[in-house]
Amino acid sequence: MTASNTASCHTTCPYCGVGCGVVTNTTDRLTVSGDTAHPANLGRLCVKGTNLHETTDLNGRLMQPRVAGRQVAWDQAIGETARAIRESIAQYGPESVAFYLSGQLLTEDYYVANKLAKGFIGTPHVDTNSRLCMSSAVAAHKRAFGADAVPACYEDLELADLLVLVGSNAAWNHPVLYQRMKAAARDGRRVVVIDPRETATSELADLHLRLRPGTDTVLFNGLLVWLADQGGLDADYIAEHCEGFDDALAAARAAAPDVAAVASQCDLPEEAVTRFYRWYQATPRTVTGFSQGANQSVAGTDKGNAIINCHLATGRVGRPGASPLSLTGQPNAMGGREVGGLANTLAAHMDYQTPGARELVAEFWQCEQVADGPGHKAVQLFDAIHDGKIKVLWVMATNPAVSLPDTARVREALQRCPTVIVSDCMASTDTTEFADILLPAAGWGEKDGTVTNSERRISRQRQFLPLPGEVRPDWWIMTEVAKALGFGEAFKYAGPADVFREHAALSAFRNDGQRIFNLAGLTTLSNEEYDQLSPVQWPVLPGALAGQARLFGDGHYCTANGRGRFVPIHTVLPVCQPTAEAPLVVNTGRIRDQWHTMTRTAKSPRLLQHRGEPFIEVHPDDMARYGLQDQGLASLHNGDQRYVGKVRSCPQQRVGEVFVPIHWNQQFSSAGLASALTDRVTDPVSGQPESKHGVASIQPLKTKWHARLLVRQNRPRRWRADYWTYVPMADCDSWWLAGTSDEDWAERADYWLGGAPQLVMNDPAQGMFRAARIVDGRLEALILVDRDVSRLPDLAWLETCFASDTLSERDRRALLAARDAEAEDIGAIVCSCFQVGERQIEAAIAAGAASVDELGKRLRCGTNCGSCLPELKELVANAVEVKVTS
Ligand code: SF4
Repeated sequence: MTASNTASCHTTCPYCGVGCGVVTNTTDRLTVSGDTAHPANLGRLCVKGTNLHETTDLNGRLMQPRVAGRQVAWDQAIGETARAIRESIAQYGPESVAFYLSGQLLTEDYYVANKLAKGFIGTPHVDTNSRLCMSSAVAAHKRAFGADAVPACYEDLELADLLVLVGSNAAWNHPVLYQRMKAAARDGRRVVVIDPRETATSELADLHLRLRPGTDTVLFNGLLVWLADQGGLDADYIAEHCEGFDDALAAARAAAPDVAAVASQCDLPEEAVTRFYRWYQATPRTVTGFSQGANQSVAGTDKGNAIINCHLATGRVGRPGASPLSLTGQPNAMGGREVGGLANTLAAHMDYQTPGARELVAEFWQCEQVADGPGHKAVQLFDAIHDGKIKVLWVMATNPAVSLPDTARVREALQRCPTVIVSDCMASTDTTEFADILLPAAGWGEKDGTVTNSERRISRQRQFLPLPGEVRPDWWIMTEVAKALGFGEAFKYAGPADVFREHAALSAFRNDGQRIFNLAGLTTLSNEEYDQLSPVQWPVLPGALAGQARLFGDGHYCTANGRGRFVPIHTVLPVCQPTAEAPLVVNTGRIRDQWHTMTRTAKSPRLLQHRGEPFIEVHPDDMARYGLQDQGLASLHNGDQRYVGKVRSCPQQRVGEVFVPIHWNQQFSSAGLASALTDRVTDPVSGQPESKHGVASIQPLKTKWHARLLVRQNRPRRWRADYWTYVPMADCDSWWLAGTSDEDWAERADYWLGGAPQLVMNDPAQGMFRAARIVDGRLEALILVDRDVSRLPDLAWLETCFASDTLSERDRRALLAARDAEAEDIGAIVCSCFQVGERQIEAAIAAGAASVDELGKRLRCGTNCGSCLPELKELVANAVEVKVTS
């Protein structure tokens, strides 16, 4: 591996749990490419990874500590943070202090946070946004295997002859893994997708089971019954390596006695259920990948165990091409699990309830005692803040005001909390607005440490950019606070390598094989060896430094008696069910080109061109029923909560169900918070919220006008309009606006443009208004208003008018006409890598491009990261369908 202080640097992508290796080069300007030597991606990157270089600018960064809104020096910020914690402990006890962490943190940051909170402040209230992502899979692993250990590796997704994907739109959410799955296509290999929605991943499916939301446990209980009745069990494996089979089978029979019962409960054709069961029985090399669609549920842990039960029953765990495999969302969700970042865990895969664990950790950390947990899980934690039990909250690298369910209550909780400390790299997020103390943290490229991906692979994230302004790494910030609190002796870290060695040493401390998470082989790394560390899958033991690809393949598990545990699964359906007032089921999820709350991905204009506005996918039957227009605006209502987005007609939705993306927030839209539509309902075992199942009513937004507003940088982002969405662009900022009442445009042009316009076209009879503010010949602001949204132009050519310092006569005419006669309208961007639009693709298809390959040859679309291939395929298929129909 190349050292971090050269122009070329091997590091890891900061987005999803695939954990792709990235090579950056800073010789002239920053470039990014896939690391061909990294085992997770072997050189591939998706569109988000490919555009990482566009996200490292300093626009919008938090560069200096702030206390009560004032910029201060670090010593004051550290002093104020320590004072708030000390006073809270003195007055209310250590449990009045809480930490809310993130899968974006590096393992070293996570380790220091956990040690400071549990070992020295003495609070167990340390949870992480990974609670929202895969805590149900963690709980399922612990119940079945006795440890939170993923048995499989990515290669198994390729080796499997039957690949079952449950609640996973891998094509958009784990795109490089999806590319690997797709490239593994061969005769005899089959893919089954289990998902209520038809997604881009369905393209891979030989069988798509669009089951009723929340009935996954019924489907897998039915599979267990089928295997038992049809001779599909591995009886020897069950007898030698497992326990609890009879109880699990009895529960499965009660819940899903036969195929007919399964089909009826899951709303699936009997034939399709039978086909899945036959394939599963007949295919020893079966991998079941499961993700947020399974985890984010009131029965998320049960879904994981229902899946694992079938793998235990067939002896398909930890064997090449045969295993369950949880796909995590975040780059370091796994690292957080390793250090004890979840409130119900202690440290280094030890739990509070394990006899002697608290004493062992206290001895290692050399503290008097560790917190007597478990602490509050995320939703509970914010309830405790709301109720006044938590007085100091320290949030790091996450945005709970957007991502937690019932967001209005979360914001109320943040408002009520006496001291909110936020460490973040961005200055303005929905959460930083509540901060009393703001601490500028290092971002990707500036920080240095390790992350662990979904297959337990530890990789280095290396620093290749200088720390800007007063920005500091999270481990350093916490170490300074620890010193200010008087714990300096225990936090003498000169750099992340010191922290990593200690983390590895704790994993190995008195670990004679009781704990499978063990980095004993890495405890003595020199600083140079740490810097050069190659990706490796834990456990890493002194005699096996290459790590271990698979676990439990020998049938020996981490339970007290070494046996894998079957878990009886009873049917628990989603808590929020449709009513007359809220008749629609709301599903939420990610989209292809955005990441979480958009703080980084929205910096890349390319990534906003695929989907630039919050939207609602609705089945055409529901559109007719509720009077909705395709591409029109509509609002979803859940009690007092409201979400406004653009309607997308989507025959792939089930009738009665809608889908909304999770990314938009109050920095980017007037009412695009998906979490406003989901309630504080959680899985009773894992505490993971049921984010995939809200309910709402829908109605069209009766708009009287639509507008495009483009302004040179540095204007306020929130507007007084019924609807706005912010679309940052390279040379200007832009907003898409709409209103339900009349506006006197001529009168109010100054408000929108930030001054009097020089060019004006006003045609009230047609519902049109256009105005531009020009200063010294340069375009400063532009607004185009129309009652008919379809008459408004795409933003791409408008932006070019902001690129130059002088506005030509031709540009002026084009602006007033709201149309550049010479510019090609390429439509919405489908291929972000090569900026190929939908209209260009349709034209190429009309001109004879009959396949995705042919489109690639003509337009280059789909030939780089491949993330758009499912959409290209759909466009080709739609064109064929239209031809056949006509
Ligand atoms: Fe990053 Fe894409 Fe790889 Fe995920 S799949 S780690 S987002 S490059």
